[in-house]
Amino acid sequence: MTSQLPQRSKPLYEQTYLALRSAILSGEISVDERLIESQLAQRFQVSRTPVREAIRRLQQENLLASDGDGALYITKLSLHDAIKLYDCRIALEQLSVVGACENATTEQLKAIEQTLVQAESLAQQGHKQLQDKLLDLNFDFHRLIAQSSDNPWLVPLLDRLSNHTRLLRTQTLQTEPDITNIHSEHRQVYEAIAHRDAPAAVKYITHHLTASQQRIIEIFERSHLTTSSAETIPQQEALQCPRCLSFEVSRNGRRMGKQGYICKQCRRQFLATYESSRYSAEIQQKCITLHNNGMGFRDIERITGVNHNTIIRWVKSAQDK
Ligand SMILES: [Zn+2]
Ligand SMILES: [Zn+2]
Repeated sequence: MTSQLPQRSKPLYEQTYLALRSAILSGEISVDERLIESQLAQRFQVSRTPVREAIRRLQQENLLASDGDGALYITKLSLHDAIKLYDCRIALEQLSVVGACENATTEQLKAIEQTLVQAESLAQQGHKQLQDKLLDLNFDFHRLIAQSSDNPWLVPLLDRLSNHTRLLRTQTLQTEPDITNIHSEHRQVYEAIAHRDAPAAVKYITHHLTASQQRIIEIFERSHLTTSSAETIPQQEALQCPRCLSFEVSRNGRRMGKQGYICKQCRRQFLATYESSRYSAEIQQKCITLHNNGMGFRDIERITGVNHNTIIRWVKSAQDK
């Protein structure tokens, strides 16, 4: 257990609350792990009273919940929860960017842009260890906009939603899927605010959060396909969209001597890849995503069971498209 011990400057229950919350949001405590007061007290080296207080507060914030038998667990978020969470963020953050267009000071704009610049340069270095830092910067981006909106209700409301966004991320095992897209979406939002262009800011924040919502939906849908069943369905694989995994695809001419397809859902164009029919498009996409997130080929092999040479070929052919 590598739990951070509570920092000794705030009241003990506050420190315990912060330490426990961080263990929950970072995924250090798993969603299937039953939380027991005495064990938590031992873990954080405090007595049971501050632990009880911390638990009570986390229950109020809906990060912890007890089941029918009174056993305590981390709140498990469903696809429906995820979709509604983003609906709320869309509504509130529209308000947030409009307020920011009207009220952001030059210093605040600078701070918002600073998170962007840092995140962009971190992403270019591509280290896996930087993922957490990158995640923090992306959350800061949204928070700083809310802070500059001059609406005192927005920051605490969005903080609660952003805690659950983090929880969602650990529960779907989402690494940063599409970091380049996220950063260019953030740029658009920032530029609109910097130009005090409220209609454009609303348009871009809505676009960004709707795209994020879509990314989460795709992850949920993917996680319900099990590896073993996916591997036993050959042939038809090529007709599944490699991006959104929809089977609604239609023919789209021939390229490089291969049949081309287009996805009716997300408009992604792709070629039939017969040589990879032993693995599903899902496994293939997962390997490519892991690689894009900075994982080595042999590590991916260990996790997915796909030979590293096959993965190298997939990554190459994805880059050629
Ligand atoms: Zn964002
Ligand atoms: Zn698609």
